[in-house]
Amino acid sequence: MKLFFIDQSGNLGGAELCLADIAQSFETPVLIGLLQDGPFRERLESLQVPVQVLTKQALQVRKESGLAAGLKSLQQLIPLIQKAARTAADYDAIYANTPKALVVGALASALSRRPLVYHLHDIIAPEHFSKTNRQLLIFLANRFARLVIANSNASKAAFIEAGGQADKVEVVYNGFDLDAYPVAVALEEPRAALRQELGLSNRFVVGHFSRLAPWKGQHILLEALTHLPEDVVALFVGDALFGEDAYVEALHQQVKDQGLSDRIRFLGFQSDIPRLMAACDLVAHTSTAPEPFGRVIVEAMLCARPVIAAAAGGAVELVEPGQTGWLCPPGDADKLAALILSCRDQPEFTQAVAQRADQTARQRFNLTETNQQIRSHLQALLER
Ligand code: UDP
Repeated sequence: MKLFFIDQSGNLGGAELCLADIAQSFETPVLIGLLQDGPFRERLESLQVPVQVLTKQALQVRKESGLAAGLKSLQQLIPLIQKAARTAADYDAIYANTPKALVVGALASALSRRPLVYHLHDIIAPEHFSKTNRQLLIFLANRFARLVIANSNASKAAFIEAGGQADKVEVVYNGFDLDAYPVAVALEEPRAALRQELGLSNRFVVGHFSRLAPWKGQHILLEALTHLPEDVVALFVGDALFGEDAYVEALHQQVKDQGLSDRIRFLGFQSDIPRLMAACDLVAHTSTAPEPFGRVIVEAMLCARPVIAAAAGGAVELVEPGQTGWLCPPGDADKLAALILSCRDQPEFTQAVAQRADQTARQRFNLTETNQQIRSHLQALLER
């Protein structure tokens, strides 16, 4: 099975980390074509996954862009589509991993007569996409994709609600390499060292692991901290990946205005997530719009860290409240503070929940099984 993957991003977002895991599992020739250069290319090269940057100029259209921006980018798109179609001729199928990749992949599929698969890592709804973009994505998926792999039931439901054809969709959750998440006891020593290094030894550390973006809701956790005792502190891991500089500035201003400077650490983008998660007492996920899947929630579970997730989108499929974590209404800083406090005040119960979450996540989100599911769907498609 020779696959030509296309992804729009040069950065390491959830969709890209997921794709790196999938592409590595195919021994037969694969190629990942990127619509932008960046750290994702470097990561793929270091993993020895064949990668090619298909264009030197990043596409300017954004999820919230309207028709005018889309039309403006046509000039750039045509040569890109032609290049993708020529490349696709050497492969059995095109696998579009992101919305802009769907645009390029759909037309390249028509030109090269190669079947198109769309891996849907998004909730196609007004909170995330403009009307024009929603209509375009649904049209392209319905017209050109032979298979849509949705990363959660929530992504699938939003796709159908927006007009997408239900019979094309298969839900496959993200999988994780379980060996990358050592059993909690093996992390005890590094955990103490890291907390000391960060000056957080005797604090209750709430970790937040997400790119910095308004809908990821870092500001909600900052707000929650103002309702919590001084020993509760927050560690933010992640950077603005898609130009959210104004939000980063606003977060720093909020820290200053609310007198939280001593209780906050911003670590920027980090690669060693399990080690950093293990250093936390709890992980908070605070997205204010529905999360398509929420890799960080599963990662926290695999690190046996208690997790509080925002109750919307795919997150509600990952966490069983009171059993494998907790759910908080999106944007509700008071409730988040209350949940954090109750976790801090009941350490034994909280740890028991986290241990159960770890065991459950190891069964539900095993990368080997995920890759097997994707392979069978692709095989069925190519045999049809
Ligand atoms: N992540 C990372 N380094 C960081 C922050 C996040 O590697 O500094 C990873 C995180 O571990 C997760 C992914 O980025 O695997 C984010 O995926 P998620 O589904 O949570 O959100 P997305 O970015 O796809 O919206």
